[in-house]
Amino acid sequence: MTPVERTPDEIRAIVQQLRDLQEVDREIRDLRKQLALLPAKHKALDVRLAQEHEEIERLKADKMDTSNERRKLEKEIRELEAEIQSHEDKRMKCKTNAELRAVDLEIAAIRQKVDALETRVLELIEEEEAHDRKVADARAKLEQLEREHLEERRRIEEQIRSKSEKLARREQTYKDMRTRIPADALALYDRLSERLPGSVVCPAVRNHCGGCHITLVNQKLVEIRQMKTFVRCEACLRIFCGEEEG
Ligand SMILES: [Zn+2]
Repeated sequence: MTPVERTPDEIRAIVQQLRDLQEVDREIRDLRKQLALLPAKHKALDVRLAQEHEEIERLKADKMDTSNERRKLEKEIRELEAEIQSHEDKRMKCKTNAELRAVDLEIAAIRQKVDALETRVLELIEEEEAHDRKVADARAKLEQLEREHLEERRRIEEQIRSKSEKLARREQTYKDMRTRIPADALALYDRLSERLPGSVVCPAVRNHCGGCHITLVNQKLVEIRQMKTFVRCEACLRIFCGEEEG
């Protein structure tokens, strides 16, 4: 293949085309990166909601233990009251004071038990009420979270949609731009792109390579000004597009 003869202006124009292509290339890479991160945000929201759901289920399970204990105690109280009733019946049939006293003692002992159980039942009812409030609070928090979650999900989906559209447009632009760039320049760009994605073309900045920052010799700076061919950094092989103050 014979080398293509080009004027410095033509070279400059091609390098500028490569630089413009690189800009779009960067945007595409950036958009792809952003898009790749969004599903993780979705997932984080789902995990948080699942945790709150579990918390409520756990709270509700606690309540069941308390209610079961209370029902058991209430049953015991009913049984003890039946026992008291039968002692009262017995009392009617007592013939002596000694018999009466004995029955009264028994009744008093049972009543004491009933009192203790009733106190415990009241405590349990209070616990249950406090617990109900806790569950209601947790539920309200969850509902609030669900609303926020929904909003956030819509926001993320909107971002995915708009970024995907933008990406498709940029990818089309990238393709179109490539058709206007000479094949040899494009091949050079693609080769460098593998190692230096989105950073193939750079200016010389105050006698330094704008890519790897190595100091450039005067000869190189002269070559950049003359632009008789694609001028490249000896160290990183980037293509220079000119000089900039930086
Ligand atoms: Zn360099």
